[in-house]
Amino acid sequence: MILPIQKGQNNHILRQKARQVNQITAKIKQLTLDMIDTVQADDNAIGIAAPQVGQSLRIIVVKLDNQILVLINPVIKKTSFRQTTIEEGCLSLPGVSVPVKRPHKVTIEALNIEGQLIKIKAKDFLAHVIQHEIDHLDGILIIDKINE
Ligand code: ZN
Repeated sequence: MILPIQKGQNNHILRQKARQVNQITAKIKQLTLDMIDTVQADDNAIGIAAPQVGQSLRIIVVKLDNQILVLINPVIKKTSFRQTTIEEGCLSLPGVSVPVKRPHKVTIEALNIEGQLIKIKAKDFLAHVIQHEIDHLDGILIIDKINE
């Protein structure tokens, strides 16, 4: 099911710190599947975080090429010293695009939809997308990055 997207820089759910997922219940699985449907339905969408569909939970879905990556309770374990700047947009801020500087490489630990611990190493664009989505879990939007 395609879910409606929360929008606007002052949106309450977007600005909240999202809760950890304690147990991957049927409801959590359904939410994740709906997030996948939502991100697949929009050709311009690359990733989505649960707060963007109105659920203050630490779940992100990243779409890259034809692959879907589900990260539950993602934690950044390692970042490179080197940073790169990439122009980022956001489904929740239509028409806004901001050059954002982030670590070029990151190592992430998370649970997959089966509840297994997974470790992801990402660089360049994918690293930016994952960090952008994790920012959503902490109530951070790209417009906050303008003056950094
Ligand atoms: Zn976003």
